[in-house]
Amino acid sequence: MHGMRVIDFHTHLPFRYKDPVEAASYLVSVMDRSGVERAVVIAIEGGVRSFRRRMNPRYIREAAEEILDYVAYNPSAALRKILFEPEESIKEHETLLVEHRRRTEEVVMAAERFPDRLLPVGSFNPDLGVEETLKRLRRYQDVLIGVKIYPTLHCIHPASRNLQPLYNWAAKNRKIVIIHTGCDPGMWELPKLCRYARPKYVAEAARKNPDVVYVIAHMGAYSMLMPGIFFREALNAAQLENIYLDTSATEPIFIERAVEEIGYEKILYGSDYPYVVGVDMRDTIEEILSLDIPGEAKRAILRENAERLLKNLGVL
Ligand SMILES: [Zn+2]
Repeated sequence: MHGMRVIDFHTHLPFRYKDPVEAASYLVSVMDRSGVERAVVIAIEGGVRSFRRRMNPRYIREAAEEILDYVAYNPSAALRKILFEPEESIKEHETLLVEHRRRTEEVVMAAERFPDRLLPVGSFNPDLGVEETLKRLRRYQDVLIGVKIYPTLHCIHPASRNLQPLYNWAAKNRKIVIIHTGCDPGMWELPKLCRYARPKYVAEAARKNPDVVYVIAHMGAYSMLMPGIFFREALNAAQLENIYLDTSATEPIFIERAVEEIGYEKILYGSDYPYVVGVDMRDTIEEILSLDIPGEAKRAILRENAERLLKNLGVL
């Protein structure tokens, strides 16, 4: 065991338990055996109605055809499905959105059960819209430490004017905004469908909202087809004082390179537990510990950066 009291800045409730409190108990047991003291636990609300409104077979087939040139020799099963059975593919993704949904209320309940261990982050919900989302965030604002936006699932530009009320809320109440960047599994691997999930757009929002702390999840690097897809942009974005990067679902090589190029102060450890299939929380900590970077950088990434940030925001 590493003997550190790690802070994990990116987790979700395990899906093996539907009940949020049972899921939270299980999450805490995983944290215990991994040496994690606190975890940021993030809601996921995809917006099934807005997805259905936006997606049609022709649109996603065209999105898939765009990349045929460079995957022509080995189109993945998911891509083949989109090309030849687009309607089926849309239905499958709808089901995924429903199955993986974890409402803001659920992470709040989880954190209320384990107030010293879990730090809940709510989710924007495109079906509800900004005003309704805000109402819920306000209702739980004593417990929530921030809100997450998924530019892929939500199909929204991070600097969109529609999101400004959320950012005003975050500025006023010292809440964090976490933004998913890079691709997402399935059809969200397609460039057309992850086009808003770029760190440079997070930077655009961060420049307009200097009082809000933004976390760029996955360092812009997550993609099955093209690992490191927007990694460069994430490094540039992190030059802004109010932007941090989290390491969740990021290949070790990118974390090493980030430390080398921008230093370690803006990098937060995140496991993305339980979403990285076959990888336990402890494995992702071991991964950081075995990086080719100085020991002080490892300690900063696994705990000290997060601790300092959370103290600055009055959370700890
Ligand atoms: Zn995640």
